[in-house]
Amino acid sequence: MLYLDHAATGPVRPEVREAMLPFLGERYGNPSSHHTVGEDAAAVLADARRRVATVLGMRPGDVIFTSGATEANNLAIKGVVLAGLLRHGRPGHVVTSAVEHESILASVDYLERVHGTAVTRLPVDADGLVSPEVLADALRDDTALVSLGYANNEIGTVQDAARLAAVTANARVPFHLDAVQAAGWLPLAGTGADALSIAGHKIGAPQGIGALAIRGRIPLEPLLHGGGQERDRRSGTQNVAGAVGLAVALELAERERGTSSERVSALRQAVTERVLALVPEARLTGHPSRRLPGTASFTFAGVSGEAVLLELERRGVVSSSGSACAAGSDEPSHVLLALGVAPEVAQTSVRFSFGHRAEIDPVPLADAVAASVAAVRSR
Ligand code: PLP
Repeated sequence: MLYLDHAATGPVRPEVREAMLPFLGERYGNPSSHHTVGEDAAAVLADARRRVATVLGMRPGDVIFTSGATEANNLAIKGVVLAGLLRHGRPGHVVTSAVEHESILASVDYLERVHGTAVTRLPVDADGLVSPEVLADALRDDTALVSLGYANNEIGTVQDAARLAAVTANARVPFHLDAVQAAGWLPLAGTGADALSIAGHKIGAPQGIGALAIRGRIPLEPLLHGGGQERDRRSGTQNVAGAVGLAVALELAERERGTSSERVSALRQAVTERVLALVPEARLTGHPSRRLPGTASFTFAGVSGEAVLLELERRGVVSSSGSACAAGSDEPSHVLLALGVAPEVAQTSVRFSFGHRAEIDPVPLADAVAASVAAVRSR
């Protein structure tokens, strides 16, 4: 089987599993306990925090371990806006874009619905880019946060984070970047963002661990209340094994980033060219060059994307129609609709996402795609 859905999730790397094992066995301490078993766990957690912070270009105290990026995004958005609401007594304003992950869009929807927060959902161009000028125009006196994805999970378009960050810095508005899909492909330090979300399971750590790194000067209201862990920003006994796994995976991904990005870019390019050559009316979605090395999403006019996925799976290729949430539902992707793709064309999308260490022959893969689309079209 050829698994090409790494944007959804991927396997745990052997080095990561190895590093985690002691903390699933004999070193089981609770980092908050005041005895040697607990102190061992606290030291390990502090080391993992420092290592994550280094790769993200943040301070160790800025790193909050979470259950994943959904929680990190919820905490960044609700935490910052609710802190502003408590301090200033006003519901504030948040800026995001129309192509974000559901965890961002649903968080701003919640604030709008429950707290009356004003929300601006910026449009994107036909390639999925947010314009820095349009962002600048959207900022207001009461803007509490700008929250955008660094790289899109469905189409792979990479935002110009530095220019967007310059706009927010100029207006003194905190800038949160969802870096989940960018991790391991793009530099995470030096983006200019004030807060970053990452998820372990996209880079070879297990599902259920992630982090929000947010600069200490930004007031943050916790969402989980209890024992005051994570500097009172996220209560709950920490996932020590997961934190170790995240640190190791992030370091490995960062170390290998240059070579894997180059190799996988060439692979993606070769697959894309052959698919576009072989399949009539195939279109690559997303930006032609500002894109993730490992993500290629196509529309194939006139077919159901779900039907193509089934044909591909019969040929041993596992891929998806876009985001894991949208997969299996009949709703066209909100990302493709925001690019201006017609709803009936958006229904035809298929996304291939390669792992950081993918070694695949592009020719049989592209041929399997062409055969699958042809099989559906011939029905
Ligand atoms: N943000 C983006 C861009 C994603 O692709 C994902 C996962 O698909 C998430 C957030 C949510 O991450 P998690 O699965 O860790 O909750």
